[in-house]
Amino acid sequence: MTKLKYDVVVVGARVGGSTSALFASKSDVDVLMLEKRQEIGSPVQCAEGVTYNTFETLKIKPNEKYIRSKIKGANIHAPDGRCINYEGGVAEGLVLDRKVFDKELASEAAKSGSDIMVKTAVKDLIIKDHKVCGVIAKHLGETIEVKADVVIAADGIESNMARMAGLKTIQSPQQICSCAQYEMVGVDVDPNYLEFYFGENVAPKGYVWIFPKGDGVANVGVGIRSPGKTPLYYLDKFVSKLDATPVELNIGGVPVSGPIEKTYTDGLLVVGDAAGHVDPITGGGIHPTITCARIAGEVAAESVKNEDCSSNYLKNYEKLWKKEVGKGLSQSAKYRKMADKLSDKDMNSLAEFIENQDIESISKIAALKFVGKNPNLMKLLTEIL
Ligand SMILES: Cc1cc2nc3c(=O)[nH]c(=O)nc-3n(C[C@H](O)[C@H](O)[C@H](O)COP(=O)(O)OP(=O)(O)OC[C@H]3O[C@@H](n4cnc5c(N)ncnc54)[C@H](O)[C@@H]3O)c2cc1C
Repeated sequence: MTKLKYDVVVVGARVGGSTSALFASKSDVDVLMLEKRQEIGSPVQCAEGVTYNTFETLKIKPNEKYIRSKIKGANIHAPDGRCINYEGGVAEGLVLDRKVFDKELASEAAKSGSDIMVKTAVKDLIIKDHKVCGVIAKHLGETIEVKADVVIAADGIESNMARMAGLKTIQSPQQICSCAQYEMVGVDVDPNYLEFYFGENVAPKGYVWIFPKGDGVANVGVGIRSPGKTPLYYLDKFVSKLDATPVELNIGGVPVSGPIEKTYTDGLLVVGDAAGHVDPITGGGIHPTITCARIAGEVAAESVKNEDCSSNYLKNYEKLWKKEVGKGLSQSAKYRKMADKLSDKDMNSLAEFIENQDIESISKIAALKFVGKNPNLMKLLTEIL
C-alpha cells in the first residue's frame, strides 16, 4: 500500500475543494486534493450562474475562456404570465462554462503548490483517539493511505466524510431540491438576462430557469421539492414549448435547508454543499461555497503552523464563515419557508403589486398596504417576523 503524508488533504476538487486547496497552499502548507472522477468539473451539475463578488473573494480576475454570458438582470415570470424585469443588483453577474472554470480553479491551486490526484476516491477516514488524521483512498485499483493534520471535506451533496467523522449532515428528502437541466441549442432568449418561471404546474416549490450561454445556447432547468412527479417530467413539459434541442442532460440535488449544525471536528472541516453552504431561496451555492472554502483553507493552514488541529482551534473556521455568510443564509432559509407557502394566487398578486413599483424604492407604506389587502401574505409575514 502506498503511504503519503501531507499537512492538509482536501476531498473533492470542484469549487469548494479547489478554493480550499488554493488558499491553504497560498499559506505555505503541503496540500493534496483528491477527486474521484477522472475529469475535474465534469459532469456539470449547475446552471453556471455567478455574481461578480465570487471573483473578488477568489482574488482572481474573471477570464474570457470560461465566461459564456454577461448578465445585466433577470425576468421573473409569475404563474399568470406577468413578467417582472429586475435590472442589476444581485441579478448581475456571469454565466460560466463550469467545465472550464472548475478545471481552471484546480489549476490555480496546483500553481500555488497543491498536489492533485484524479480518479482517486476516498473510501474512509483514518481516526485515532477521536481525531481525524488522514484518509484511505482507491486510486486506479490501488489502495493509498494519506496521513494529514487536517482533512477538508468538500465532497458535495453526496458527502460521506462529515458523517464518517461523526457530524450530523443534511439528509431528509424535503431538505433537498431535486433538479434536472438540459443544455439546449436554439433557445430564443436575450443573452444578457436570466429567466425564471414560477407556478404549481411549472415547478412545485421551486422554479424553472433559463440561463443563456450565448449564440442561442442556454441551460434550461427545473428544481422542485415536492413528492410525486420527477423534475424531468416538469422539465420535458416546459421545453416542449421551446423550439430547441438538448445536447446535454444533468440531474442533481441542491441542499436548501441551510448549513449543517457543526462544520468542524478534531482534524476535519466541512465546506460547500457538504456543509449546506447554499442559499436556500435561490439554490445558488458557488459564492457561499467559495467564501467558506477560502476561510477553511486559511484556517487549516494556520492550525498546521500552530501545531493545533484540535476542534478547539478549528472552531475559528465556523466563527469566521458565519460572520461572512451566516446571517444571509439563515435569513434566506426563513424566506424560503415563507415562499413554500405561497399559492399561485399570492404570487400573481405579488407580481401585480411589484409590476407597478420601482423595485429599488418600494415604500414601506405601499408594501404594508399591499400586504394588508392579502390576508394569506399577512399571515405568512407575521409567522417569519
Ligand atoms: C442543477 C443545479 C444547478 C445549480 N445552479 C447553480 C447556479 O447557477 N449558481 C450557483 O451558484 N450554484 C448553483 N448550483 C449549486 C452549485 O453547483 C453547488 O453549490 C456547488 O457546485 C458546490 O460545490 P462543492 O465543491 O461544494 O461540491 P460539488 O460541486 O458537488 O463537488 C464535490 C466534488 O467532490 C467529489 N467527490 C465526492 N465524493 C468523493 C470522494 N469520496 N472522494 C473523492 N472525491 C469525491 C465529486 O466527484 C465532486 O467533484 C446548482 C446545483 C444544481 C444541482
